[in-house]
Amino acid sequence: MASFPNIYTHRKVADTASKACEICYKPSTSVLVTADNKDFFYVCPAHLKDKGFCNPIIDEAAVAAKKKKEMDAEIERVKKEFEEKQKKKKDKEKEKEKEKDKDKKDEKKDEKKPEDKKSEEGVAPAVDEEPRVFALQKTFYQQRIDKKRNAEIAKRNRERLQNPNLFPQVPRGLP
Ligand SMILES: [Zn+2]
Repeated sequence: MASFPNIYTHRKVADTASKACEICYKPSTSVLVTADNKDFFYVCPAHLKDKGFCNPIIDEAAVAAKKKKEMDAEIERVKKEFEEKQKKKKDKEKEKEKEKDKDKKDEKKDEKKPEDKKSEEGVAPAVDEEPRVFALQKTFYQQRIDKKRNAEIAKRNRERLQNPNLFPQVPRGLP
């Protein structure tokens, strides 16, 4: 039977391929397609922002991965900061000791250490924030399923008519 997940991906088609929007019948080049291509329909991009029509599906896995990456970067940053502090502390202690035995003079105290400037580690890659995957509101989704089911029934009926031998009818109404 007609069934497909309520997961629609927003795709764009060429201007020449635009068709009437399912809701307001204006021509649109935006299409909502289920993952397996079982169902699709044209819709204005504006309706995608209408919560009464559909809701964006946030890609949980991608969000989780992004969060983890950010956290890892943060941990790495804190760790580095801590290590740098420790290093500076040690350097200071060393310098103090050097100052103590002043006999050894002309020791260059502030030798320039290669500053390990914060690299790009903390910079997250640009993420496409525009949601592309949507779940239709229940009534709209049900409409799609009904439509699909009706189309399937119609198709089956058509096939049956074209091929009457496939489904021989039992004569009815006989005494
Ligand atoms: Zn529309």
